[in-house]
Amino acid sequence: MNQSGVVIRVPGKINLGLSVGPLDSDGYHELVTVFQAISLYDDVIVKFGAEGSGITLDASGSTATGVPLDHTNLAYKAAALMVERFQLDADIDIHLKKEIPVAGGMAGGSADAAGVLVGIDALFELGLSRDQLERIGAELGSDVPFGIAGGTAIGRGRGDELTPVLSQGKYQWVLALANSGLSTPAVYSECDRLREGMMISRPAANDALLQALRAGDAKGLGKALSNDLQSAACSLRPALRLVLDVGNDYGALGCIVSGSGPTVAFLVEDEEKALDLTVALSASGVVAGVVRATGPTHGARKISSI
Ligand code: ATP
Repeated sequence: MNQSGVVIRVPGKINLGLSVGPLDSDGYHELVTVFQAISLYDDVIVKFGAEGSGITLDASGSTATGVPLDHTNLAYKAAALMVERFQLDADIDIHLKKEIPVAGGMAGGSADAAGVLVGIDALFELGLSRDQLERIGAELGSDVPFGIAGGTAIGRGRGDELTPVLSQGKYQWVLALANSGLSTPAVYSECDRLREGMMISRPAANDALLQALRAGDAKGLGKALSNDLQSAACSLRPALRLVLDVGNDYGALGCIVSGSGPTVAFLVEDEEKALDLTVALSASGVVAGVVRATGPTHGARKISSI
């Protein structure tokens, strides 16, 4: 082994479409979702630790406050799984540089877990394929495989059965961040509550959305964005409706609550519109922060050795 550490860059995701089926008898919902990886990244640094230290974890960065640094962190769980699975006889030191919002519906924890899997594979020269890494990732959480794959993909089942989607062009996003997260299980429960007494069909792919991606048609994509969890997220966090209104007023091509929220993603036509909307959102007093990103981008990948 000729490196003492690796830096893995992992993207956040937004769900361009999220179709949620009825509640299963095992307490889950079957999903069909279209993920896009966007250029808002965490960097995961994986190094050999001091002898006898085991797995250690710390975090810095603009969104690191409040992230658990114990065995409940998904990055820690990813390292523990790799140590057990490959009988790794070494101490591992993980540092998360977080920029992806926490509990923001952008799968930040899953991204970090994806980064650890790719990082340990590189550091220990395990030679695992992307496919093998994605399968291990699915054991940790349903969004982890996409953190490894990146790009644009359909997720079925619990979101972890991935198929790449043909997509042309780069899309410009403006993201409105909230100052506190929403719990994913709470948003699913609220969705079930709102649907009580309704006949819910099996989840389905959004053909208009896939067609727009194939054609590189940003306007068509804006119109086709859809999220079955949006009403539930807005019901738990009514201020989200005000955030969505700002996007409509400032000519966004489309807006969507990402996953379980509360991050709201606005698709805009160009840099100028992105700037207008960024200023309007910042001045609106209804968001905690605004960031710009483009998508699709790569999945978890090594950017340097240290
Ligand atoms: P998803 O969209 O996959 O539901 P999310 O983006 O809404 O995820 P995360 O940022 O992954 O949510 O965090 C959800 C919770 O998981 C946090 O409240 C935090 O307590 C816990 N957590 C565990 N590991 C991490 C991590 N590495 N980064 C952030 N949160 C983590």
